[in-house]
Amino acid sequence: MRRLNFPVFLPSFVVLLALVPVLLPDSAEFYVTLLNYIGLYALVALGLVLLTGVGGLTSFGQAAFVGLGAYATAWLTTAYGLSPWLTLAIGLAATSVVALLLGFVTLRMGGHYLPLGTIAWGISLYFLFGNIQAFGGHTGLGGIPPVSLFGAELKSGREFYYLIWIALMLAVVATQNLLDSRDGRAIRALKGGVVMAEAMGVNTAWYKIVIFTIAAQFACVSGWLYAHLQRFVNPTPFSLTQGIEYLFMAVIGGVGHVWGALLGAGLITILKQWLQDLLPKLLGQSGNFEVIVFGLVMIFVLHRARDGLWPVIIRQIERLWPSLAATATGCVEAAAHLDKREMPQSGDTILEVQKVTKRFGGLTANNAVSFNVRAGEVMALIGPNGAGKSTMFNCVSGVNPPTEGEVKFLSQRIDALPSREIARRGMSRTFQHVRLLPTMSVLDNVAIGAHLRGSKTFVHSSVRMDREEERRLRFEAARQIERVGLGEHLFDAAGSLPLGKQRIVEIARALAADPCLLLLDEPAAGLRYLEKQSLAELLRKLRDEGMGILLVEHDMDFVMGLADRVVVMEFGEKLAEGLPQQIQQDPKVLQAYLGGVD
Ligand code: ADP
Ligand code: MG
Repeated sequence: MRRLNFPVFLPSFVVLLALVPVLLPDSAEFYVTLLNYIGLYALVALGLVLLTGVGGLTSFGQAAFVGLGAYATAWLTTAYGLSPWLTLAIGLAATSVVALLLGFVTLRMGGHYLPLGTIAWGISLYFLFGNIQAFGGHTGLGGIPPVSLFGAELKSGREFYYLIWIALMLAVVATQNLLDSRDGRAIRALKGGVVMAEAMGVNTAWYKIVIFTIAAQFACVSGWLYAHLQRFVNPTPFSLTQGIEYLFMAVIGGVGHVWGALLGAGLITILKQWLQDLLPKLLGQSGNFEVIVFGLVMIFVLHRARDGLWPVIIRQIERLWPSLAATATGCVEAAAHLDKREMPQSGDTILEVQKVTKRFGGLTANNAVSFNVRAGEVMALIGPNGAGKSTMFNCVSGVNPPTEGEVKFLSQRIDALPSREIARRGMSRTFQHVRLLPTMSVLDNVAIGAHLRGSKTFVHSSVRMDREEERRLRFEAARQIERVGLGEHLFDAAGSLPLGKQRIVEIARALAADPCLLLLDEPAAGLRYLEKQSLAELLRKLRDEGMGILLVEHDMDFVMGLADRVVVMEFGEKLAEGLPQQIQQDPKVLQAYLGGVD
């Protein structure tokens, strides 16, 4: 992903920001006001970058959260004389309650329920503001006291400018820190990688709620600032239309990028101001013509630059001032090893599959299949395409639980557990259809595998109190990547590797979880002869270290040279089980499978 060199860009930007009010003459008050509004909007759009751009969730209700923050302080400071700082805390608490409730209800349902839920929330809060007498109805609430900071009251726009932009810069830095962490990787997996992330132990529902709440809180802070800047609130700025405009800002600016929020807020605010002045003059009548022009601009920008304007600007910066743009490579610092789990005794049965049946409607993909896997052995599951091998993997790993039957892992029933819980117990898997996050580096992808080996929360990571743990996680990820022989690709985008190598990245990711049972679904597909040899060597080494390996593979030479035992499946049923030599001579198998394929 293209991005700015944060340590170089941020200080320059901050210095520039700090100088603006000093350099602008008194007559230019208008520009200070404009910048204040840009800052307020950018804070809301920043939440949408996290929520929509990174997390893939859409909210139309951000304006309502702004309203919640604004009205909470407007009402409590005027009616009860509370300090604005206290009302900020109350507003944030109220926002969290609403966001958690709304999140719990709608996020579980997935898909379009969150957008719909946020629309409903946006509309209802808007009418609530307008109809409650204590909130002043549609006329609003005035007489809101100014904010005091270190004994000084922030009354002028120039004074308030610093408060707004400091809040925004803190939010930008916290968001950037969050994205560059273990939690950030989990959050980036939400868009298109939920099944994989869950199988690596990530509680994706929880992370969705976290980003929804953080985005809501950014909006709440923006509302609080707005109320004390204006010293007056009415329902209009918190309508659904404004909620949509925040999305416009994030999308036009570049919804996947922290700085896109600032760019989008800036562009739209300035453009709107300009069009509001210009269009009525041009057309000779008053009206909200800028809304129409906006719609057209939106379509144009999305047509020409799908990811918004920020990536376009970054490309220019890369060309003109290379020092401002970060290079794609990074570094991995040496760090202490992560704790390892206790491995079961070699030879102990770790996985017991008993009469597992899986039906998809009328199709029985697995029919009463039983087998087991021991620690320190390679068990191969073979059979023609469609035999039900991948389905069995999904049953065992909790990705798609069995319809009937039992699965025991380390002597405990796991067939009703979610995949992340099974991962926690020491089972790790790869997918037949590679599930990597293609734009993320190989290192970051593999580090997701180590998710459960870290414990710092998003609060730690947003203030960089997770650095030691993060170094250890990255070091572990790098170690596993070296181990599978992809050391030269640490910082390459995972999607840029050939498919065979992507499969190997999946193995490194599974190993980063420190499993005692490894499930590999066709790991050798797409590999060259020598690559297969080194993969076999690696798997033998893992087996000798005591790991149990359940392997699905079509390459018979590979399987027969590696497996300790083999289970053959056909049409969802177990056809045979035995040592590789036995299987190779079993007439049933020869007829059904080996004869047919090779
Ligand atoms: P294998 O991995 O042995 O090639 P699979 O387990 O992928 O076979 O598929 C077994 C059968 O189950 C196939 O007929 C496939 O079409 C079907 N199947 C697999 N997953 C699903 C699903 N999610 N929904 C419906 N049918 C499925
Ligand atoms: Mg398969």
